[in-house]
Amino acid sequence: MKYKRPRGLQDILPEQVGEWQSAEATFREICRRYRFEEIRTPVFEQTELFIRAVGEETDIVSKEMYTFEDRSRHSLTLRAEGTAPAIRAYLENNLRGQDRDRLVKLYYIGPIFRYDRPQAGRYRQHHQCGLEAIGSANPAVDAEIVGLAMAFLAALGIEDVTLKLNSVGCPECVPGYIETLKNAVRDRLPEMCADCQRRFDTNPLRILDCKVEGCKAITDGAPTMLDALCEDCATHFEGVKGHLEQLGIAYEIDPRIVRGLDYYTKTAFEFVAEGIGAQSSIGGGGRYDGLVESCGGPSTPGVGIGMGLERILLVREALGLVAEDRPRHGNLVITLGDDAWNEGVKLVAELRAAGIEADLDYRQRSMRSQMKYANNAGFANAIILGDDEIVKGVVALRDLEAGDQVEVPRAELAERLHCPE
Ligand SMILES: [Zn+2]
Ligand SMILES: [Zn+2]
Repeated sequence: MKYKRPRGLQDILPEQVGEWQSAEATFREICRRYRFEEIRTPVFEQTELFIRAVGEETDIVSKEMYTFEDRSRHSLTLRAEGTAPAIRAYLENNLRGQDRDRLVKLYYIGPIFRYDRPQAGRYRQHHQCGLEAIGSANPAVDAEIVGLAMAFLAALGIEDVTLKLNSVGCPECVPGYIETLKNAVRDRLPEMCADCQRRFDTNPLRILDCKVEGCKAITDGAPTMLDALCEDCATHFEGVKGHLEQLGIAYEIDPRIVRGLDYYTKTAFEFVAEGIGAQSSIGGGGRYDGLVESCGGPSTPGVGIGMGLERILLVREALGLVAEDRPRHGNLVITLGDDAWNEGVKLVAELRAAGIEADLDYRQRSMRSQMKYANNAGFANAIILGDDEIVKGVVALRDLEAGDQVEVPRAELAERLHCPE
């Protein structure tokens, strides 16, 4: 084999794709109920968009983006996250229209590209379903997004989910807190990991989500952002908690949820599911009240979430929710002789036109080989057509699961296959 897929990528095979389709269909259906509408943005954007929106010092921008120059020497980047492109499209297409402070609710399903260390459920092209609600500062919208995500996970059978909730403040209160945090850890900085030592200057809040035990121990007793929120942020956070309680959604306050992106303000959250080990965050998001403005638009609040489809499917697998065997489906038209073959080609076309899944064995082999193929390839029925059947205007319909066979007038075949007995 001469070519291999690049490291950290995956092929989603026909035997797996049913799971994907059903998760995507479930997401679309739940979004419909909440009146979110789909947006499809390009797979690459101007590099500058991600740098401005996500932040130069973040892991995504500093080491994970797939950036390239096209033939006109424009720097482009494969979609590194879902929010910045949605905001760019919102502004470029004036989605809010004349109703200036209208809430625009968007969802997307698509690939995200990051040069990351490959590990279970983590790929360099992974897929996210995401939501963006742009235009409202109301904490009820934060709760609605969380509620939608929970409903989606529950519909997929994932009920054992912990919602970790935090507030990461706003430009009013964050600078003061950063000073407090730096003062609290400064003396012990030499004991911390290299990443934390760098972050201390570039992105100090991220010290809080370092996974290294020694670093965690040092930040354990440090003051939290929640103690430092300004009045506006504190009121908003109370609002979010209140609305979650109204909706009956349990949450756990976790001051270590800071998210890796610069644009978050106020609410930040993550969903953690049991079943796939330590790296078990299956999605997260938060509020980004300054993002639209930093992308060149008018000051507009917003809140969103992204969920990793690979991880969600891994959790379903771990919970035993993925069926091992696919049920038999479709009909193989088996023909005996040249006349029957020509009739068979017509019959398959008729069945397909009537909305029925049907196929032929194009190798035109013996009846025995065709029957074997029908069984091995997972067809539900064999429809047998020979010279006798053509003369009588019937087919022999064999249920490959049960093994019984009946004669059916050809004119009634489509109806019968639509509503079997
Ligand atoms: Zn604040
Ligand atoms: Zn560290």
